[in-house]
Amino acid sequence: MLKHKSIIVFFAIVWMAFSGCGRDSEAVLPTTRPEPIKLIVLVIDGARYSEMFGDNNYKYIPRLRSMMRQGTTCTNLNIDGVTNTVNGHATICTGHYESLNNGGLDYPSYPSFLQYWKQAAVAGDSSSWIITSKDKLEVLSDCTDPKWHGRHRPNTDCGVNGLSTGYREDSITFNNALAVLQTGKPKLMLINLKEPDVAGHMGNWNLYLDGIKKGDEYAYRLWTFLQSHPDYRNNTVLMITNDHGRHSNGWLDGFVSHGDNCDGCRHINFLALGPGINKGHIDTTSFSQNDITATIAKLLGITMPHCNGKVMEGVLD
Ligand SMILES: [Zn+2]
Ligand SMILES: [Zn+2]
Repeated sequence: MLKHKSIIVFFAIVWMAFSGCGRDSEAVLPTTRPEPIKLIVLVIDGARYSEMFGDNNYKYIPRLRSMMRQGTTCTNLNIDGVTNTVNGHATICTGHYESLNNGGLDYPSYPSFLQYWKQAAVAGDSSSWIITSKDKLEVLSDCTDPKWHGRHRPNTDCGVNGLSTGYREDSITFNNALAVLQTGKPKLMLINLKEPDVAGHMGNWNLYLDGIKKGDEYAYRLWTFLQSHPDYRNNTVLMITNDHGRHSNGWLDGFVSHGDNCDGCRHINFLALGPGINKGHIDTTSFSQNDITATIAKLLGITMPHCNGKVMEGVLD
C-alpha cells in the first residue's frame, strides 16, 4: 500500500514539473513578445553642420526641423577619425575608427552592425540592405576579419551597378529604397545620398544647398512612408546623419573639400526618431561618430565587441 502511494506521489511530482502546475494558469500560455525594432540609417553625404542643424533658422532643412519634436537631435557630435566618405560610413557601420582607402579598394577590418544583426537574427533572414548612390560604399557589406569575411552580408544596391560602376542620382537611390521597403519588408537598411558632397566638390554653392534641401525632403518622405505603413509604423527607428562635413568657412577652400580635422569637417548632424528614442529632446553632450554604432547595437540588442563607441544614453528614453 505504501509502495503504491509513493508511485502516485512520484507521478504527481513529475506531472507538476512538466505541466507548469502550481503557477497561475494564464502564466503558462505563450506570451506575445514585442517585435524587435527595425532600423533605417539615412546618411546625407558631406552636408556640413552649419547648413543643417547648426543654422538657427534651419533655412535648408525645414522638414527635419519639423521632425525634431518627434525625436532627439544631437548638437555636439564629432568625428575623431578620417573625414571622408568611406571612412565616415565605415565608422558608423563598425563603430571602429580606421584609415581605409576612399575609393572602395578596402573593406573595413571589422564586421558592421548589419553583419552582427544578420548573424543574430533568425537563420536565413536576409532582410537587411545597403542602398547607396555611391558604388564604392558596397565595401560596407563585408570586412576582412577572417571569422566574418563573406558571411552574414546584407543585400546591396550601390551606385550604377555595384562596386566600380560609378555614382547614380539620389532620386534613383531613394526610389529603390522605397521599393525595397514596400516589397521586401526589410528590417535593417543603410541609405546614402551623395548630392551635397558631389555638388560641394564641384564648387557649386547653390547646387550644394539644393542637395541638402533634397536630402531634407527625402528624409521627410521616408519618415512619412514609415509612419503610414503597417509593417513599419511604431516599430522603426530612423537615424539621419552624415559621413563627414566640409571645411569650415574661411578654412582652405571653404565648402568645396573635406578630409582634415577642422571643425567643419568633424562636426556632423544627428537626428533619431522612433520607438525607444526621446521625443523633443536636444542633446548637447559631446559624442563621437562611433557612439552612433554603440547606440544602434543597444537598440537592436546585439553585442559588437569591436565597437569602441559609447551608447548615447540621452538619445534613448
Ligand atoms: Zn567628398
Ligand atoms: Zn576641414
